[in-house]
Amino acid sequence: MDKPERILERWKGKTLSECIKIVARDVQYLVRISAADADGLCQCVTCGKVDSFKAMDAGHFASRSSLSTIFDTTNIHPQCKRCNRYLHGNMGTYVLYMDEEYGYNHMIDLLRRSQDDHDWTKESLAELRHQTKLAIKKEKERLGLG
Ligand SMILES: [Zn+2]
Repeated sequence: MDKPERILERWKGKTLSECIKIVARDVQYLVRISAADADGLCQCVTCGKVDSFKAMDAGHFASRSSLSTIFDTTNIHPQCKRCNRYLHGNMGTYVLYMDEEYGYNHMIDLLRRSQDDHDWTKESLAELRHQTKLAIKKEKERLGLG
C-alpha cells in the first residue's frame, strides 16, 4: 500500500482538482464495496434495486460539485445508475432516506457544510487516499476479492 509520501511524489505534475477527482473515485468505490453483502450485492438507497456493487453508482446527497463534502461518507451511498443519472439522484426519495438514516439535523448540517469553501491540500488528499486504500483492502479481503 502506497504511503502518503509516495502518492504525493506521483502527483507532482497534477493539479489539485485532478487529485480531488482521483480520491473521489477511491471514496466512491469504498462506499460501494462497504455496502456489499457477502455475495457482493448492494441495494440502491432510493429505489431498492439490488445489484453487484461493481454495477452500482455512488450517489452524492449534497452535490459532488461541493468539494467540502465530496468525501464525507455520510453524504455518499450506493445508487443504481437509473436513480443517480437518469433521475439526477432521485432527490425526493434520497431526502427521506437521509432523514431516516441520519436524522434531520445531520442532513441539514451536511447541506450547510456543502456551501463552505473546501480546504483540501495535496497533502491532506494523499493522506485520505492512503486511508481509503487501506479500508478498500480490508473490504476486498472480507469479500474474498483479495
Ligand atoms: Zn435506484
